[in-house]
Amino acid sequence: MTTSKPSAETVLDRACEQRTEPGYLEAVQRDPSHRVVLLHQGKALMNGGALSYLDPADLPAVLPAGTVTVFLGKVNDDHDHKLPATTSLVLQVLPYDAGLPEQAHVPAWVPAGAGFVTYREAAAHLHPADAEVFIQAAAVANWHTTHPCCPRCGNLTEVASAGWMRRCPVDASEHFPRTDPAIIVAIVGADQRILLANNFAWDLHRYSTVAGFAEAGESAEQAAVREIAEEVGVHLHSLEYSGSQAWPFPRSLMLGFIGYTDDVVPTPDNVEVREARWFSRDELQTAVLNGDVAISHRQSIARSLIEQWYGGPILDVGEQQ
Ligand SMILES: [Zn+2]
Repeated sequence: MTTSKPSAETVLDRACEQRTEPGYLEAVQRDPSHRVVLLHQGKALMNGGALSYLDPADLPAVLPAGTVTVFLGKVNDDHDHKLPATTSLVLQVLPYDAGLPEQAHVPAWVPAGAGFVTYREAAAHLHPADAEVFIQAAAVANWHTTHPCCPRCGNLTEVASAGWMRRCPVDASEHFPRTDPAIIVAIVGADQRILLANNFAWDLHRYSTVAGFAEAGESAEQAAVREIAEEVGVHLHSLEYSGSQAWPFPRSLMLGFIGYTDDVVPTPDNVEVREARWFSRDELQTAVLNGDVAISHRQSIARSLIEQWYGGPILDVGEQQ
């Protein structure tokens, strides 16, 4: 078990140059070897805890009106994925009101046992390759769902570039998926303890790193210092960039930092943060193992930052020391 620091490795080759070619998506879809990922209302079709990669032959010839089709990419040669290398993945984003059977929320043609699941429900046990595909699919799907109209003239835009652009038929303006930068910080004190926060939105025993959005015209470092001062009342004197994670719920890119402070007494803002608490390495591992404290799951950047401070993997409750 190793600490998972964000890496540049990818499951899919997005083939950004090819996908802009006219007819590229249609050619991919004519090839029966491609596989289909299905999203509906932000949930992905899953089966037995794994993302479903559907054979296009099992899909109906016509999907519900308003379905958006996106080329996700080709499985990279050097990636240990359950799909063969170079398999093309196509995303079908079913419209919000897809006329799905009210009870099951699953079209009749979907394989037995499969169902739509949110990323939050699935994340803790999802294979990292599936997690990456789910994240990419959710990001582009959320953008299509929330940006149907031209921001210049208000007309409905049309999908282009294999699903990675929308073009206005009236003024020809081109629009691309948006991402909101956010910062997430593991706060380390002069005595090497870590300051973790409990938010009002969480269970009382859950503690994590502190996060917030960068404002317009603000650098990530400025946002980190401001957000940490606002939410837990300590001043960061220096920051170390650690890595990032796409978090498309609805459209964030989390920029992870280790932040250092000489302050000792935290002051929670009482708006978002209920309590901020210092942990030594031993205290945190003990509290997690005996169930007094829960920290974020292993595929989150919050966990990655905490484990970078810790110096290795932290055992979860029930795991052997
Ligand atoms: Zn327009």
